[in-house]
Amino acid sequence: MKRFVYIVVIILVLCVATFSFVKYADSERDRNRSNDGVQPRDEFLTDNPHVGAPPLSKSSTNAPYTSKSSEDILLINTKNPLPKDYRPEKLVNLYNQRIKHFQLAKTDIEVSEDVYQAMDAMFAAAQKDGVRGFIITSGYRSRGEQKMVFSISADGFAAKPGESEHETGLAFDVIAYGNESFELTPQFEWLAKHCAEYGFIIRYPKGKEDVTGVPFEPWHYRYVGTPHAKEIMDKGITLEEYLEQQ
Ligand SMILES: [Zn+2]
Repeated sequence: MKRFVYIVVIILVLCVATFSFVKYADSERDRNRSNDGVQPRDEFLTDNPHVGAPPLSKSSTNAPYTSKSSEDILLINTKNPLPKDYRPEKLVNLYNQRIKHFQLAKTDIEVSEDVYQAMDAMFAAAQKDGVRGFIITSGYRSRGEQKMVFSISADGFAAKPGESEHETGLAFDVIAYGNESFELTPQFEWLAKHCAEYGFIIRYPKGKEDVTGVPFEPWHYRYVGTPHAKEIMDKGITLEEYLEQQ
């Protein structure tokens, strides 16, 4: 009888030991899994896309334009027309986005995806500063649309087809609600001061007509990415002069 009790006790001890070991192994596995480099989902749900998110590789199609070198900046003017087979980067229709910080003059305005993200951040910041009433009047234009704009515009006022930045999806035109001359508006004043922080430049500045070949256009903004835009706007130079210096 004593021997029987012994055997039962030994079996019980073995059972408890095995159960404890299995539990320990399970918890170790869970711990390792959470350290695999996979962040908890909540960390991605932040306003700042760079917090918690893995760095975007340069080769990624979604890489921010800011990571591009100056060699990748497209220079488009009468001397540097776009190739006939040029295709813009991925475009988004602004009307289909949930835009809150600016208005649209029409429903078919498209810009490149990077440009839309930068516009959204920029006009949100303007709104925060109490500057509202921006109306986007133009974005991407196909070669055919640019042909039409050119044909109905006065001489020299619109770029020839193939020579317009609007054919890239990297530029937009903006006006201010209720104002005739955009140059005199607080909206222009804000953009001139802050657009570079969001990667945009005034592409055809005042006093640089001889360099750009285009009269001053306070309404036309071109996306080149933040570091390039800051240098261009800080120095008060044109894209032509900036690329020459590189
Ligand atoms: Zn324009």
